[in-house]
Amino acid sequence: MKQTKVCIVGAGPAGATAALQLAQLGIECIVVDKAIFPRDKVCGDGLSGKVITVLNRIDAAMAGRLRARQDKLNSWGVLFVSPGRHALQVGYRPDFDSTNSQHKEAPIGYVCKRMDFDNFLVDEMKARPEIQLHEGVTIDKYELQPDGYLISGSNGFQVKAALLIVANGAHASFTKEVANITMEPKHYSAGVRAYYENVTGNNADNFIELHFLKELLPGYFWIFPLPNGQANVGVAVLSDDVRKKKMNLKRSLQEIIESDPILKDRFKDAKRISPVEGYGLPLGTKRRVISGERYMLVGDAAYLIDPFTGEGIGNGMYAGRMAALQAAEAIKANNFSATQLAAYDSEVYRVLGAELKLSKRLLQMVRFPWLVNKVFGICSRNKQLQELVSSMFFEVDIRKKLAQPSFYVKLLLNRPS
Ligand SMILES: Cc1cc2nc3c(=O)[nH]c(=O)nc-3n(C[C@H](O)[C@H](O)[C@H](O)COP(=O)(O)OP(=O)(O)OC[C@H]3O[C@@H](n4cnc5c(N)ncnc54)[C@H](O)[C@@H]3O)c2cc1C
Repeated sequence: MKQTKVCIVGAGPAGATAALQLAQLGIECIVVDKAIFPRDKVCGDGLSGKVITVLNRIDAAMAGRLRARQDKLNSWGVLFVSPGRHALQVGYRPDFDSTNSQHKEAPIGYVCKRMDFDNFLVDEMKARPEIQLHEGVTIDKYELQPDGYLISGSNGFQVKAALLIVANGAHASFTKEVANITMEPKHYSAGVRAYYENVTGNNADNFIELHFLKELLPGYFWIFPLPNGQANVGVAVLSDDVRKKKMNLKRSLQEIIESDPILKDRFKDAKRISPVEGYGLPLGTKRRVISGERYMLVGDAAYLIDPFTGEGIGNGMYAGRMAALQAAEAIKANNFSATQLAAYDSEVYRVLGAELKLSKRLLQMVRFPWLVNKVFGICSRNKQLQELVSSMFFEVDIRKKLAQPSFYVKLLLNRPS
């Protein structure tokens, strides 16, 4: 049996970030994953600015290594399309100008297949002597003992850890059985995605595309461009709607690509190069208790996905880093109690709580197609408003404004302020 101060279950972005931050602090840990890397994960593959930000905070050289990779596509913004097909192009920086080489040099977002991105993080872990990574081991038993968690898995694997960081994603049994957080269809989305080649009509600056089609609201259809003429294409819908409307998302995706009056032309010569696969998105639509006696939950295991955008990688990595910093405090104090670790919850919700709340409100608003059509229509004709929307990627205060019903009332009366 192995012994360690910290064991991390799951080597996805949240778990890997926790391990890398611990290593940077000089703290050893054991990381266990059921997969052997490189491995795929069903996802849109969109990496927001948070990814580079968090890597930079851990180690600027590591952020530099991600920037230098050729297997990702730089993206400079988002194209939102309303149910009435008003298109709104929003650069990640408010003053984005595609002819300005300085703007083009510093992209904020990337699209990178998870097969490659997650493996980048795993390679970073493998380069750190402080991290002992065990691949191909499925953990299925967690036993709380007076001096730590005894964790058991396949092939007779056992580890005893003073502290456990649970990072094994949307289907984590620990989340349900120990942390008592259960899947509720109103607070969960379902998504399917496939890879395509030769989708035409993509934006010249690699903007990612979110199409708020009427039949999916408040969910959407997406096209995220990838290197080598490929694209990640999918749909995500609230699980509650999937159940109530008896939707089959694989069929919905196929129907949109084959029959949508606008989109079908863009897929005329496209070829699907992967199966259509689905997975769940545990949404951060309410505050939950994400730590307890000798454990912290991070990433999808902690339900931290942004309910409006579906972004979970950046939030998971933020939480992973915060869990590592809290682990360092707990080790210093030799205190792994629920009371000590509650500071982790406070920190996660201090940093991410406001934006998760606002995104929840935006999600509620995009339920109404007439409102989305009207707002997109007005925004697409007004440069100042477009800059305001694009500022929302930088400033939570602006997002707050966008989530106020009064903002839309003023907008509809033609008096935005
Ligand atoms: C369809 C879809 C589209 C999405 N699009 C985006 C997007 O474009 N951008 C974005 O930011 N987010 C997106 N997300 C969300 C994003 O995929 C997740 O938020 C992110 O993967 C969370 O990272 P994680 O490290 O918490 O978990 P994961 O990435 O799920 O990693 C968990 C790890 O735990 C391992 N594991 C699981 N069980 C065990 C076990 N019992 N024992 C040992 N190891 C185990 C797994 O092998 C895996 O490596 C999307 C999600 C879906 C479903």
